[in-house]
Amino acid sequence: MSVVRLVLDGGALVANWRTLDRMSGAARTGAAVKANGYGLGVRDVVRRLAQAGCADFFVAHWTEAEEIADLVDPGCISVLNGVGPGDVERARALGAKPVLNSPEQAARWRAAGGGRCDVMIDTGMNRLGISAHDFDADMLRGLDIDIAMSHLVSSEEADNPVNARQLAAYRAVLPAISCRRASLANSGGVALGADYHFDLTRPGLALYGGVPNEAFAEIIAPVAHPEAALLQVRIVRAGDTIGYNGIFTAPRDMTVGIAAIGYADGYWRGFSNSGCFEHQGRALPVAGRVSMDLTALDLTAAPELREGDWVRARYALPEAAAQSGFSQYELLTGLGQRFERVWRD
Ligand SMILES: *Cc1c(COP(=O)(O)O)cnc(C)c1O
Repeated sequence: MSVVRLVLDGGALVANWRTLDRMSGAARTGAAVKANGYGLGVRDVVRRLAQAGCADFFVAHWTEAEEIADLVDPGCISVLNGVGPGDVERARALGAKPVLNSPEQAARWRAAGGGRCDVMIDTGMNRLGISAHDFDADMLRGLDIDIAMSHLVSSEEADNPVNARQLAAYRAVLPAISCRRASLANSGGVALGADYHFDLTRPGLALYGGVPNEAFAEIIAPVAHPEAALLQVRIVRAGDTIGYNGIFTAPRDMTVGIAAIGYADGYWRGFSNSGCFEHQGRALPVAGRVSMDLTALDLTAAPELREGDWVRARYALPEAAAQSGFSQYELLTGLGQRFERVWRD
């Protein structure tokens, strides 16, 4: 019997995609599903989004493309890491698109026969991509390019002038690329307005309940709800401490529940003395240090709870990020393998 589970709201996932699709105006809306669908379970994510009408999926690794290639047309999967020397054969066999990130990758893909591909133009991230500074149309000569994309550095900061600079740099190179579609916006970019939408948007975080900024606060629904069973309920005497290094001291005799979840599950140590669980709406604050497999909760508000009762983490991502010091991205992608992933519709 599992003692730790991740309850996943499929309805909220699809509703978030539809919200982003509406915000994307005339552009189509794809989905970033790398890192196991941001930790939620990529096959369950892709199946639901494909059914809702999503037709473009972005992964990082070729293994991630292989994992979903039986669920969608492989030709609608883009592999963001591109095509290294050891990837050419599997890429051709699978039929997913490499995102060509350098003149070297473009030449490699052309030499391999040059099936359909995407390209990444670097407009300021200086991570992957062909630099807009030294872009030359000859680099992509003869290639069958579907999406010519770029990626925003600070899209969650609507007022940051780097957004407009990247938009201008991207627009400047686009006319020299013969591609079917242009794409610039991740989740944050979707809220920057029509200028940023082009033909296709590529949200990830907001699909899964992440809130890049205020523009998403009221309209994006949480999707992932970590839950754990209590393994033990105990009385801790006034003045005693709880857990490693004794960073919590009981101010009075108190009822404490030990939940079967810890940092090995992605419930990070940053939640020590700051995170919160709940049971039927009642708050159960984390008491002391989160350990690898266990987290102690103050059961003052629910003293009737017993071994085997389930509690749910308060995991609204902006708040949980502020409590823990981890980014919303890490709070999703870190969700561990011990969770039984339970989809509600
Ligand atoms: C991860 C990623 C996305 C999605 O970004 P979010 O901020 O999660 O919306 C889009 N495009 C590229 C190139 C990415 O690497």
